[in-house]
Amino acid sequence: MATKFIMVGAKGRMGQAILSLAKESPDYQVFAQVDKEDNLAAVIQGTDSVIEFSHHSVTPMIAEICLQHQKPLVIGTTGHSQTALKIIQDCAQKIPVVFAPNFSIGVNLLFYLTRKAAEILGEDYDQEVVEMHHRLKLDAPSGTGKRLAEILAEVKKKNLDEIAKHGRVGIIGERTAQEIGVHALRGGDVVGDHTVHFATMGERLELTHRASSRDTFASGALRAAHWVLSQKPGLYSMQDVLGLK
Ligand code: NAD
Repeated sequence: MATKFIMVGAKGRMGQAILSLAKESPDYQVFAQVDKEDNLAAVIQGTDSVIEFSHHSVTPMIAEICLQHQKPLVIGTTGHSQTALKIIQDCAQKIPVVFAPNFSIGVNLLFYLTRKAAEILGEDYDQEVVEMHHRLKLDAPSGTGKRLAEILAEVKKKNLDEIAKHGRVGIIGERTAQEIGVHALRGGDVVGDHTVHFATMGERLELTHRASSRDTFASGALRAAHWVLSQKPGLYSMQDVLGLK
């Protein structure tokens, strides 16, 4: 049977990409489309799951409506505040939620390879994350760029907020071994590029992913909307959906 879902953020770039892929597939059925002027609570009854790619300020309210109606939720939105993250985590104790800064298979493999490379290369390799996105993107660094930096910090057993260097300007002094540089480029119609640099004396390793179409995120989000139906309450990542953990 086709997975019925509600698309929140239906008029946006990602919403449109997800809706057009779903309409081409017999495995998914668009149950309703919700954007700014619509009320999710009024249409939620009867859907299997909800997919949300809208605005970070909206996600807590969407998660609470899904909780009230016991509907699984897939969140693609990025840029949340700590308060919003807490509400999402609380809701995920009672309903299954997939929350991923990036739904592409390639990027989830990049997360895996970044952890492996950091573990193998160790402390002697300086680490920098560089991301580029289209000129209309609202948040920086990207959720994926942040997650890559978090993985590097996890391997160092450090808190990212204490060691992240966002851009550099002026007389900054020598680079410290612990810091993780994070840099956000913005321009044109770039769908999403991410590179993790590992640099030491005499060599440099760069792991790069480039998305050329939103369809890569859209198909991952649809896959998550089906996978989440058979899960217990909890907060899941795309790594869980893909079985990469
Ligand atoms: P967009 O601006 O094109 O679309 C957002 C849509 O949400 C708009 O149609 C807007 O009207 C709608 N919206 C705003 N407030 C709303 C509300 N209260 N209720 C319902 N809809 C509302 O943005 P986009 O490029 O589609 O990106 C959306 C989000 O997804 C961003 O946070 C972006 O960073 C993120 N994103 C995530 C991934 C991923 O793989 N996780 C990939 C691409 C983008």
